[in-house]
Amino acid sequence: IDAEAQSVLDAIEENDVDFLRIQFTDILGTVKNVSIPASQAEKAFTEGIYFDGSSIEGFVRIQESDMRLKPDPNTFAILPWKTREDGTVSARLIADVMDASGSNFAGDPRHVLKRALKKAGNMGYTLNAGPEPEFFLFEEEDGRATTITHDAGGYFDLAPKDLASDVRRDIIYGLEQMGFEVEASHHEVAEGQHEIDFKYDDGLTTADNIATFRAVVRAIAAEHELHSTFMPKPIAGINGSGMHTHLSLFTEDGENAFHDADDEFNLSETADQFLAGILEHAPAITAVCNPTVNSYKRLVSGYEAPVYVAWSDVNRSALIRKPAARTPAASRIELRSPDPSCNPYLALAVMLQAGIDGIERGLTAPDPVRENIYEFDETAREEYGIDTLPANLGEAIDVLETDEVILDALGDHIAEKFIEAKRAEFDDYRAAVSEWELDQYLETF
Ligand code: GLU
Ligand code: MG
Ligand code: MG
Repeated sequence: IDAEAQSVLDAIEENDVDFLRIQFTDILGTVKNVSIPASQAEKAFTEGIYFDGSSIEGFVRIQESDMRLKPDPNTFAILPWKTREDGTVSARLIADVMDASGSNFAGDPRHVLKRALKKAGNMGYTLNAGPEPEFFLFEEEDGRATTITHDAGGYFDLAPKDLASDVRRDIIYGLEQMGFEVEASHHEVAEGQHEIDFKYDDGLTTADNIATFRAVVRAIAAEHELHSTFMPKPIAGINGSGMHTHLSLFTEDGENAFHDADDEFNLSETADQFLAGILEHAPAITAVCNPTVNSYKRLVSGYEAPVYVAWSDVNRSALIRKPAARTPAASRIELRSPDPSCNPYLALAVMLQAGIDGIERGLTAPDPVRENIYEFDETAREEYGIDTLPANLGEAIDVLETDEVILDALGDHIAEKFIEAKRAEFDDYRAAVSEWELDQYLETF
């Protein structure tokens, strides 16, 4: 047993941990977990935990279903909200998924991200990523979620209008107990909408953190009898929930490869190429970063969510923004399209691979667009050469299928299963009849 695993065993002793939840995510980003008694921890590290992969959505067929979870000792954390009442202590470990032959399973999203990070590593870079997940808190009625907002607050509002500040405070305590460094939290623009920002970290830690974040928010909201949702657009006509992602590459000696003090925007040539790569692959990564039918209800004009493929150093209607940076380490770009319904491992993997492709091909970013792009008409967009993001999940899958770089980033197994699942979801949606249609047509025809 290695030193890292040993330190987890020690922590289990010290904290009287009773149960360990071993977690991983399926292709759609749903967290799966198996619970083992703490007495089995050592064996979990040495032998792994066997499970039936054919029972997990998008994993494998029944003939090859003997899979194994290999817990990553760096991810040990006590689950504070599991621990409070009955005195039993639960902790979690995030695991890598191994296939029957003992190699990393091609369908494990965490492995897809590790592959992208390794590629960046071979070029001398580590990815730093900082997400800004937004979410809504809704009332529950008879144990079921509603879309009744919990408060009538708005952007940066204070209590008593922001009734949810207590809930946010408890969420932040929960996150801190799990090792998060929370940087800021505020009421978002829409009623009932919130944002909690935690510190950027390396790509893998950030993806793990996003998965954990969603679980903590959900659990603690439930303790307050509220339903939290990361659904991108729960209510028409007001802002949806995004997950802006701040990205930069650092070199091996800890320098920010995106910073150049002499550049007008303080962005280096590497940053420019990376940005250009993301713009080039933006339509194709949308299916991954915005993977639900509902995601496309958010990506419309007028709600601070991007629609057009452009970047800006000033305005928030662009897909990529260059936030003001106070220090060289903080020079970064902010991709504004992702939403919090995405699989964070796959989303970070495709963002990174898109950017790397820009560096490898030495692409050049166009000039930033300073105007409000929502107000551009088609001629203006043509003049600037501005492309649009896919308008719905069907279009998004179509463009994903044409982009070899992004398909490669996902790998054959995940690309195939992901496209299959998302096509089925879109077809199902196409066949459904919505409230909107009934309102429009039922009495007219
Ligand atoms: N909620 C907006 C979105 O859908 C973003 C608002 C903001 O700039 O934080 O992306
Ligand atoms: Mg926000
Ligand atoms: Mg932002």
